[in-house]
Amino acid sequence: MTSSSIRLGKFLGIEVGLNYSLLFIAALVTFQLSSLILPNQAPGYSELVYWLLGMATAVVFFFSILWHEFAHALMAKVFKVRVRRIVLFFMGGVAEIEEDPRTPTAEFWIALVGPLSSLLLGGIFMGLYLPLGRHDIYGEMFFWLGEINIILAAFNMIPAFPLDGGRVFRAIFWFFSKNYLQATRLASYLSQGFAYLAILSGILSLFTGRVLMGSGLWGIFLGWFLLSAAKNHLQTAQVRESLRGIPLGRLVRQGQPLNPDWPLAYAIDRMAIGGTATSSPVIRDGHTIGFLSLDVLRRIPRIGWGGVRVENVMTPISSVRAVDAYQDLYDTLRNEDLQREPYLLVTANQQPIGLLSQRELIAFAEQQARGI
Ligand SMILES: [Zn+2]
Repeated sequence: MTSSSIRLGKFLGIEVGLNYSLLFIAALVTFQLSSLILPNQAPGYSELVYWLLGMATAVVFFFSILWHEFAHALMAKVFKVRVRRIVLFFMGGVAEIEEDPRTPTAEFWIALVGPLSSLLLGGIFMGLYLPLGRHDIYGEMFFWLGEINIILAAFNMIPAFPLDGGRVFRAIFWFFSKNYLQATRLASYLSQGFAYLAILSGILSLFTGRVLMGSGLWGIFLGWFLLSAAKNHLQTAQVRESLRGIPLGRLVRQGQPLNPDWPLAYAIDRMAIGGTATSSPVIRDGHTIGFLSLDVLRRIPRIGWGGVRVENVMTPISSVRAVDAYQDLYDTLRNEDLQREPYLLVTANQQPIGLLSQRELIAFAEQQARGI
């Protein structure tokens, strides 16, 4: 969790955090309701009542955003996509999902369910408001909550990244084109279109007072935010596609097999014959018991190479996490558990075929990303 967030705890197995910006907005909402909206619409109550109801409304507003994000998170669970955490911001939150949905259907529903649930909640509040009317203090409160939830739904459905609408649009296009990258490119262009519209609208409203999509600085800020998100999403998709087709097995360069009893100096000579290999299997009685990696060798001073045996410095296979050779580079790098492992043991048919260091994986991915 970033430093600008407070950890609230775990709910339904999902960690929830709160961005400080939301506290500021909550204070603003309370102030606006308690000192302006409620006293104007429903006069005749004491200060204390206005402030208490203003605060209560702000709290319900906060739960409305949580409700929206949990809808995303629970739908992600339905599609077996892991959710890392939820961080709440002022105009909605972010349900950080561990990986991108694998199918357009999953992405469509995970994205759409957020605005749908806000709309539902907005409808419920409007239903509570209707019999009371706007000059009732509770009616005014329910009206404000209904309105804000409907605005939340509508705002999030703008078809631009990183808003839900952008994802919904990409999912639809992905579904029909069967091409993730192409779908993202189109969605990214659309996002940029909306971003420029928001910026233009912001600038225009500064001069003419007319509002198209976001007024003044808010429009400019929103546009700038959408613009950078659009570019980021496209870049991420490009990297994802380039790493997706690369199974870990292809990165393994098997070196010359080594005997665990050999002195290190001799083993290094044998490894050098292997050419580009970054690790060599250490074999005893026909079984691979570990790997000798160049990464480890770098940390041993040359002076020690004569007296040390291979077995003393190798990485035993029992000490490293195994991953299948078919697993692709993208999934490996995105996986938080695997990120913590300095080395990964690549196996094919349960048999160890090589050792890859995290450093090698990242270096390869960067090299690949530069080629885009
Ligand atoms: Zn959402």
